[in-house]
Amino acid sequence: MTNSSDRRQFIKLGLVGTAALVAGCSSDQVHKTDEVGPPKRILPGKGPIILSTWDHGMAANAKAFGVLQAGGSVLDAVEQGVMVTESDFSNRSVGLGGLPDRDGIVTLDACIQDHNGKAGSVAFVQQFEHPISIARAVMERTPHVMLAGAGAERWAEENGFARKDVPMAEDARRSWEEWRVKNPQPQAAGDSARVNVENRRSGGKDNHDTIGMIAMDANGQLAGSCTTSGLAFKIHGRVGDSPIIGAGLFVDGDVGAACATGTGELMIKIAGSHTVVELMRQGIAPEDACREAVERILRKNPGMTGQQVGFLALRADGAYGAYSLYNDFKYALHSATENQLMNSAFAKKWE
Ligand code: ASP
Repeated sequence: MTNSSDRRQFIKLGLVGTAALVAGCSSDQVHKTDEVGPPKRILPGKGPIILSTWDHGMAANAKAFGVLQAGGSVLDAVEQGVMVTESDFSNRSVGLGGLPDRDGIVTLDACIQDHNGKAGSVAFVQQFEHPISIARAVMERTPHVMLAGAGAERWAEENGFARKDVPMAEDARRSWEEWRVKNPQPQAAGDSARVNVENRRSGGKDNHDTIGMIAMDANGQLAGSCTTSGLAFKIHGRVGDSPIIGAGLFVDGDVGAACATGTGELMIKIAGSHTVVELMRQGIAPEDACREAVERILRKNPGMTGQQVGFLALRADGAYGAYSLYNDFKYALHSATENQLMNSAFAKKWE
């Protein structure tokens, strides 16, 4: 290596090689292309571009895009976008309409991060309509990143957020009561995953579907948000990946952004969204970075079945990708011209 550009190239290749070794496979395998899902798509330019998880992402994206069009910042866009989902009390996986924990209590998690990595988060909060806005306030008005539980609630009230008591919807109460009958002595792990598998077998809806949103404005500024009621029927006090910076969401304006949905415990254990962004930093394409994170989860959990995980990734140049473990992960993509629901590439089909 005789000059600095050679050295930079060497460092880049070296990092890709290291990632491949850590992943326990060759760099060819790290880069292998998907044969099952849709082709990877790359946008030609920069933003505006907004990606968010699941079908509810369509309405959230539309709001976020409107905020950008009206001259709002990308941070305003990702906050106000997911507020739409939080305010939809018919949504059973985000906000106060979400399915409760095993004690019949709805507890909420959320986080937000800006282009420069500033972040705010709340975990295990009850009776607030917009945990994402409390997370943003934590970021902007405190020296901390994360507040949890009763302390977070007290701080929110002291800082102008009003409590809201939304009665549990009839269908949510019925699901919870049916679940309690079937699970008189729930075990520490796996119950929510089992409910999900049973729901799928009976043609029902999955019991967890966080909204994660990552976006870039027309100037290339990135931001992300994530908000959820978490796994249905979780142990009271359980916190998933969604409010954890690096697990449910990670933004680094130099590289890109990623967010996650699915069984939070699996995401936390590999710092999922951070992993995706770091893989992109090493030169791996967004969809391949998401795939590598999913494959890492698979390798670390041999024999695991019936648990969905999915990632969205947006690179600083506007390229994006998605990858999930199972085939039903959808995401909403708002480009400069249209808002569409996309099928993610995936590793396996539900049986
Ligand atoms: N990741 C969320 C959690 O574990 C749930 C989901 O995305 O569906 O709380």
